[in-house]
Amino acid sequence: MKFAAILKQSLTDYPGQIAAVLFTRGCNLRCPFCHNPHLLIKPGRSETVTQLPDEDVIDFLHERRGFLDAVVISGGEPSLHPDLPLFLRKVKEMDYLIKLDTNGTNPVMLNEILSEGLLDYVAMDIKAPLEFKSYQAACGKLGSEDFFNIRSSVQLLLQASIMVEFRTQ
Ligand code: SF4
Repeated sequence: MKFAAILKQSLTDYPGQIAAVLFTRGCNLRCPFCHNPHLLIKPGRSETVTQLPDEDVIDFLHERRGFLDAVVISGGEPSLHPDLPLFLRKVKEMDYLIKLDTNGTNPVMLNEILSEGLLDYVAMDIKAPLEFKSYQAACGKLGSEDFFNIRSSVQLLLQASIMVEFRTQ
């Protein structure tokens, strides 16, 4: 797994904790208000965004144990990366708190990593009322399967016993 960027220290992305923020590349939506549009292109399509190997990130997190409390995975959409669960296991082995930022389109992976106890905090974007046409207009690009998956993720997170935030702006 490769990352597009790392913010080595943040006091605002995980309330009450000192966190590193990792940004993944690629997103399956195209929200007109996207805060990180340069990260939407998939790896291999553009060489203008750096790629940071996960081995380097793991080394960095090893070095910062005792100083950092948490790791935030953001994007792009992190759940597009099939090796995200593997990476999270390595981070959890170091006893970090983990927060995931997600658009909610991959409830299968979300369920997997929640069930494994790999997440402490999920922030899911809610981009519009949960009605297909409104949501599609807000996302720029959205299939009916994506919308079904977003609704499934909301249900999943409503039942989760970790910290959950539904972000509406
Ligand atoms: S889901 Fe997030 S990363 Fe993807 S286009 Fe929308 S705002 Fe940007």
